[in-house]
Amino acid sequence: MRIELATEPGDPQRPNEDYASVALPASGEGGALVLLDGVTPPEEDCGCVHSVPWFTARLGGAMLELSVSHRDMTLPEALAAAVRRVGDAHRDTCDLSHPRTPQATVVAARWSGEVVEHLVLSDSVLLLEKADGSVHPVQDTRLADLPAPVPALRAAVRALPRGSAERAAAAREYVRAVEALRNAEGGFFTAAADPAVAARAVTGTTPRAALRSLTALSDGASRWVEVFGAGSWDRCAALVAAGGPRALIERVRALEADDPECAAFPRGKARDDAAVVHVAP
Ligand SMILES: [Zn+2]
Repeated sequence: MRIELATEPGDPQRPNEDYASVALPASGEGGALVLLDGVTPPEEDCGCVHSVPWFTARLGGAMLELSVSHRDMTLPEALAAAVRRVGDAHRDTCDLSHPRTPQATVVAARWSGEVVEHLVLSDSVLLLEKADGSVHPVQDTRLADLPAPVPALRAAVRALPRGSAERAAAAREYVRAVEALRNAEGGFFTAAADPAVAARAVTGTTPRAALRSLTALSDGASRWVEVFGAGSWDRCAALVAAGGPRALIERVRALEADDPECAAFPRGKARDDAAVVHVAP
């Protein structure tokens, strides 16, 4: 079995808000991976005295532990229990009903000798490389496909001159519209403080013999495909398989460095935290 992972902060001066882990319990052929991307909180109060890395370390640790030690639980059940456990760790000190309470995207996969289960919530990606070499991205597309007026507002921001007051005002309006859809019906969902969100995740099961590899990516790594259009998901999986997770992150950093103003490739952050987990079970 080949397992490789890498993660790197977008800004070396700031804590990495991605979380990447793999567990291989001693009981045989099984294992699990968990990759989270913590959501950067706004400048203003988010109702919590803790940091995003505090949250992702607890949520990711709980999710990994429950996935491998409670094989009778489904991955959504493990995620719900993990969210509940983290909530219990700070509901006495923090306002967990705040819409910007610490939260994260989730990718999880668990394999046995027979099957590989997966779960994806929000905009991190899991690539399933099938035995025939084809690559299938598992994605929760709710954030990419937000309803009106979000697409029109996004287009309006991008049409205005960079650095202008008009663009800044349009950007604030766009962000307000997106935030109104955060963990709201018809919008997009992240793992925050409500365990019920686990039922919203994209899940599936694949016979293990039908899979050649799994690659989990935070959006700071998947931007190689989704923002920079540097290659297909097939090429992305092949790049990781050949050069390891670091090879993909280095390619992303080079593309980011070539477009520091986000002019050619519009994106929310010039450089983002990036995490990649590759498992060939
Ligand atoms: Zn807190």
